Amino acid sequence: MRRVVILGTGPAGLTAAIYLARADMKPLIIEGSQPGGQLTMTREVDNYPGFVGGVMGPELMENMRKQAERFGAEFKTGWVNSLDLSGPPYRLRVEGLGDILTQSLIISTGASAKFLNIPGEKENIGRGVSTCATCDGFFFKDKKIVVIGGGDTAMEEAHFLAKFGSEVRIVHRRNELRASKIMQNRAQQNKKITWSLNKTPIEIMANNKNEVTGLKIKDNGTGEEEIIETDGIFIAIGHLPSTGFLKGQLNTDETGYIIVKPGSTQTSVPGVFACGDVQDSKYRQAITAAGTGCMAALDAERYVEGSAVHDWSKA
Ligand code: NDP
Repeated sequence: MRRVVILGTGPAGLTAAIYLARADMKPLIIEGSQPGGQLTMTREVDNYPGFVGGVMGPELMENMRKQAERFGAEFKTGWVNSLDLSGPPYRLRVEGLGDILTQSLIISTGASAKFLNIPGEKENIGRGVSTCATCDGFFFKDKKIVVIGGGDTAMEEAHFLAKFGSEVRIVHRRNELRASKIMQNRAQQNKKITWSLNKTPIEIMANNKNEVTGLKIKDNGTGEEEIIETDGIFIAIGHLPSTGFLKGQLNTDETGYIIVKPGSTQTSVPGVFACGDVQDSKYRQAITAAGTGCMAALDAERYVEGSAVHDWSKA
């Protein structure tokens, strides 16, 4: 019987691991197919506090992991096939590890940005292709920028990026935007923002120095193709939280983000906590994920200590 198990090793899960290991809660952390989470796909992280000259995403995650290990956190690789939250205790069925029983559970399985799956996209992530304007906008001062998508995120990112870039072009696959009226209006009033509507992105072009140089798009009406010259492409077509494995055992919103009690990390099941992007469709920053990871650790510790009266040996 474990006191606490953490699912996921992004900044949220690793921060929870640091706090719980340091509190002698002997957490078990289960890491899945992308140890370190989304930050391992980025290059330089310039806005994580404490690093004057910035830090590389993979290095930041490696350091967090080592910090958790220093306090005795135990890491195991496995894939949670199913779980039973009808306890406590809660039962996890983990491929490669068998069944694990735990008094409390922290879910920090993150979310992933949706990609277009077009040529030139994946190989240029961090080299001109980004899914986070807040993280990478600064690198595109006075450069030409393209934002792909027609939702609120695309409008918000375009507006934000217009502070840095010489021009920002929004490319969207339909003539109508999905974004709310207020966000549309704000983007439309921004003189630096131009539009390519009813166009489908088909290829991201780069030069032999691995710098993005353009986006090939196709007009959905005429079928005509053109290349937009650009230095940076921000893909803002939505995110998907990694919650499929929960099979409806926790309350989520319609996209699948776990709903937590405001001001805490408590989910709809007592003793089960969620932190990081898996419960946050709004801020999605490494530092906010780490912050909620700390909250989840404190919530879980208090829960387990407070349930000490429960006779776990009979569970
Ligand atoms: P949305 O799902 O709302 O929008 C995604 C956009 O990407 C749509 O315009 C969609 O096109 C387009 N898209 C999806 N897949 C593809 C594809 N394969 N190729 C080309 N285009 C594609 O996601 P958002 O991230 O914009 O927003 C998520 C939620 O967060 C929303 O509820 C939003 O309101 C909220 N939000 C609120 C903010 C705020 O209030 N400040 C800021 C940011 C987000 P199509 O329209 O044709 O489907």
